[in-house]
Amino acid sequence: MLHRTVEDVSSGSDSDYSNTWISWFLCSKGNEYFCEVEEDYILDRFNLTGLNNEVTNYSQALDLITDNLDDDVPDELRGALDVQARLLYGLIHARWIVTARGLAKMLEKYKRADFGRCPRVLCQAQPLLPVGLTDAPYEKSVKLFCGRCEDIYSPKSSRHGSIDGAYFGTSFPHLLFLVYPTLIPPKIGPSDVGRAIGDEVTGKRRRTREEPMEVEGSVGEVVSTASVALKADRYRPRIYGFQLNETAKLQRWQEAVRDRQVAGLEALEGRL
Ligand SMILES: [Zn+2]
Repeated sequence: MLHRTVEDVSSGSDSDYSNTWISWFLCSKGNEYFCEVEEDYILDRFNLTGLNNEVTNYSQALDLITDNLDDDVPDELRGALDVQARLLYGLIHARWIVTARGLAKMLEKYKRADFGRCPRVLCQAQPLLPVGLTDAPYEKSVKLFCGRCEDIYSPKSSRHGSIDGAYFGTSFPHLLFLVYPTLIPPKIGPSDVGRAIGDEVTGKRRRTREEPMEVEGSVGEVVSTASVALKADRYRPRIYGFQLNETAKLQRWQEAVRDRQVAGLEALEGRL
């Protein structure tokens, strides 16, 4: 028994995966950020090490994903399995997209701007990449990383905004730029990092954190600019938990600038 009807399978696919659970999943609305995990990868149990502890009904969920589920599974269980299968696929996906083949698949999507574009004017419609803020499921929803301003944004659509960030992981976009360094977009503004450091003296800033969407605080409340500046959380690109060296250096410099500006603001606010 075929358990689903597939209405819209793209014809240009490089593998024969029509009428499969994965093709149904990828075609479902809201799942546009996901790429196809190749079956070979899923069938190699080594790649799935440890996932049996994360997913209940692990083997049946795996059978569902690989279209090997027995037809006599009762309908009540099938609904639960569907949820578990999505979780399992997401967790496998996070591992897959940091492999060479997975990165290549996501690269195609990045080039098509499947993940949207940076809302910042200075980033000139830079395509975004999905990123998780944690690698553990059920903690944080997926965010979008801009390689130009190196900031993260929430997806525009609530369908995408509710996707678990663990299905993409914390390392993916940074690993992609590490593997494909020619794709690293030029930084915003006319100056390079060296000149930007010189701009510090003249008070010009290369990057700011003043977009309304990034600063949280209740409307109408009188807040100190200095305390808001200190509270603004900075995104720290990491690969497998390690902060990227060049970014870390730049961020230390930016934070030193911020601290000096905050000190200035505090002195000013103290006088008012
Ligand atoms: Zn940007």
